[in-house]
Amino acid sequence: LFTKLKAGLIFNGTGMMDNGMVVIRSGDGTIADIISEEDAGDDIQELDGILSPGFINCHCHVELSYLQNVIPKDTGLVDFVSAVMTNRRAADEEKISAMIRARDSMYRSGIVAVADICNDTDSIPAKKDGNIWWRNFIEISGFIDATSDQRLQSGLEVLHEFEKQLPGFPSSLTAHSPYSVSSTLFRSISRISKNKTLSVHNQECLAENRLYEKGDGDLLRLYDRLGLDIKNFKCTGSSSLRSWLPYFDPKQSLILVHNSFITPEDLEYAKNYKDLYYCLCPNANLFIENVLPPVEMIMQNSKNIVLGTDSYASNDKLDILAEIRTLNRSFPFIPLTDLLTWATRNGALALGIAGSHGTIEKGKKPGLVLIDHELKHSSIID
Ligand SMILES: [Zn+2]
Repeated sequence: LFTKLKAGLIFNGTGMMDNGMVVIRSGDGTIADIISEEDAGDDIQELDGILSPGFINCHCHVELSYLQNVIPKDTGLVDFVSAVMTNRRAADEEKISAMIRARDSMYRSGIVAVADICNDTDSIPAKKDGNIWWRNFIEISGFIDATSDQRLQSGLEVLHEFEKQLPGFPSSLTAHSPYSVSSTLFRSISRISKNKTLSVHNQECLAENRLYEKGDGDLLRLYDRLGLDIKNFKCTGSSSLRSWLPYFDPKQSLILVHNSFITPEDLEYAKNYKDLYYCLCPNANLFIENVLPPVEMIMQNSKNIVLGTDSYASNDKLDILAEIRTLNRSFPFIPLTDLLTWATRNGALALGIAGSHGTIEKGKKPGLVLIDHELKHSSIID
C-alpha cells in the first residue's frame, strides 16, 4: 500500500525540492520513490504547507516532564538548578504519565528521534512503547573528586538497566556539565565513553566561564547551597570549554548543548574536534537566563548545528518548530532551509542515524512532518 504526497513545498533535509515532485511512501513508512507529478498517476494527496523529514530533538530530559509549569522563569541558572533539585519529587505514576504525554505530543508535532538525558531509570517504561527512537545519555555529575567512583558506579548501574530493558536503543554514559563534573570524573567518562557520543551542557551561564577563569562567581552560591567544599577545584585561567574539552580526544563525538556564552576563541579551539555538534535550545535559554546563544558567530565557525527542546522544567512545550520559530524571529537573516536542516539532517548525523532518518531519500524511513507556511504548527503524517 503506497501513499503519494505532494505539498506546497518539499524540504528534503538539505534544501527545497523542485516544484511538481511527489513523494511515494510505502505502508511501513519507507520512502519508495520521489518522482515528478506527471509520472505519479492519480490518487495524489495534496498537502498545504511544507513537507519535511521528521524532526530530530537533540536535547531533552523527558524524565523531568512532571515539572511542567512548576519552575519559575528568568531566575538565572543557579536558582533554576536549585528549584529543579528541590522540586524533584513526585509519585511514580505521575512521573510516568507526564512522560507518556510528553512522548506522544512530541511525536504528534513531528519529532521522530530524541537524544534524551537520563539521571535514573524513571524513563524506561515510557520508552518501551510509542513511536519515538531514543538515544539515551546516562548523565553523571559529581564536582567533588572523592565521590567520583561512587557516581561512576551508580551511572554504570543505570546504564546497565537501559541496555537490558531497552536493547533496541543505544545508551551511553555522559557528563552533565563543566560546573558539576570534577576533573577525575571527566577523565573516567572520557575513558568509558571513548567510542560513543557524549552530550555535555556547555557554557549555559556566564558564571561557568567565570568559575574556570577566576575560580569565583555566582556558581559558588550553588556549591554553598549544596554544602560542597570545592577547595580542590583548580581554575585554569581559561574559558569553561577550553578547560574541559582537552579531557577528550579530538576524535571524540560530542554534542555541546546551549553554548549561550561561547566565544570566538572557544569556537576556534573547538575546530580541533572533528565530530562536534552545537545544539541550540533557544526557548530554554530564554526561560532560564533570558539570553540567546550567539547563533551568527557559531554559524560562521561551524556547519554542525542541531536543535533541542530541553525539558518541561525549562520549556513550555517540547516542540522543535517552536524552537525554529524563536530562531526565525530573533535571527531573521538565517534562511529557513538552514533552520530546517539543523532540525532534520544535522540532528540525524549527530545521533548516528543518518542512514535512516533526517532526509527524504529513497529507501530511508525518516518520518514525514507537515509544517504550515507561517511556522505555527507542525504535525506528523501517519
Ligand atoms: Zn539539559
